[in-house]
Amino acid sequence: MSDGHHRAAIYPRHHRAWLEVDGAALRHNARVLRARAGVPLVPMVKADAYGLGAVAVCRALGLPFAGATPQVAAPDAPWGVGVASLDEAAELRESGCTSRILCVTPLLATELTRARALDVRPALHRLDDITAWRRLGGAPWHLAIDTGMARAGVRWDAVAPLAGALLAVPPEGVFTHFHSADDDLASRDAQDARFEQALATLGDAVPADALLHRDNSGGIVSRTTGSPGHLARPGIALYGGMFDDVLDLAPVAHLRARVVDLREVHDGESVSYNATWRAQGTRRIATLASGYADGYRRHLSNRGEVLIHGHRCPVAGRVTMDMTMVDVTDVACAVGDIATLLGRDGDACLTAGMVGARADVSPYELLVGLALRVPRFHLDLAPASPSSA
Ligand SMILES: *Cc1c(COP(=O)(O)O)cnc(C)c1O
Repeated sequence: MSDGHHRAAIYPRHHRAWLEVDGAALRHNARVLRARAGVPLVPMVKADAYGLGAVAVCRALGLPFAGATPQVAAPDAPWGVGVASLDEAAELRESGCTSRILCVTPLLATELTRARALDVRPALHRLDDITAWRRLGGAPWHLAIDTGMARAGVRWDAVAPLAGALLAVPPEGVFTHFHSADDDLASRDAQDARFEQALATLGDAVPADALLHRDNSGGIVSRTTGSPGHLARPGIALYGGMFDDVLDLAPVAHLRARVVDLREVHDGESVSYNATWRAQGTRRIATLASGYADGYRRHLSNRGEVLIHGHRCPVAGRVTMDMTMVDVTDVACAVGDIATLLGRDGDACLTAGMVGARADVSPYELLVGLALRVPRFHLDLAPASPSSA
């Protein structure tokens, strides 16, 4: 009956736990972020699209694949995608993805040949690497400027020595990355100013048509008049993992597990390892086919809640590796019924922010951790064709 809530009826009865990735929700979030940013997006699909499946996410977002017509009309089409390693880029290329791919982490000099072969736009900032890239043919690349994150790129106040190399092999883009755009506007403004200072220092060494980009999700959300420059690089907001309280973002990831056992426990009896939960009166306990090996964090022991038929059921006792027990005394349920551990069930929703807060992990870690064992089902993979949109 409540299978209709989460469209689980389409799954064979033998699936006991799975992650549902909602392509329509992804596209909705991309539209919201595109409108907010006012510039084309570079969806960050690093870490297998935050655990949700990079190839499927690229397809859902309408990025070009060999043999497929691009489905998202020009102004809303992503400019390309961002990855963190060449292996991630290789996976996309092997799947037929012909999109622009930007690798945002510094590559080793020994990786540049492979980057070229994969048609990846590297983020470069060392003079030797820029020179080597020119010798490899000078394909498009982006200059990474560190404006205070202190993680990757050339310091904003040390760009001058690069000017000559930039004139020899002009970057397609120049970017920086914020450390606290979402919760500290003053720090964002300071990084903005440093970025502009670096561009001023480089002057004509940066081509007039270079693509400038700064904003991650937090940056996009922090602006009221759109993202500065020409592109924006959202990750977590695209996946509905943060900022769903300020923007109209939809949850994308739904972790489901079936009830695989049911029992009554009597007053004073315990549930799960170390007996950290004890029944007060007679309680009904359902066992779900998911545990921390599926990314349902152990810290949710006695703290988490799951949704069954739209009702909230508290976790009873320790989350174990493969199974989690919940108190279903107030909900009629049977073996085979579906519990939602993350995401939407009817009108009720457990967002990554809420579950992450209970689990004491960031929504980023929560989502990335879901890739551990459960199969992923991607729904609504193909965007509607532009004519019917
Ligand atoms: C991961 C990453 C992003 C996306 O960050 P979110 O906070 O997930 O939006 C953008 N740019 C760079 C360089 C990144 O490494």
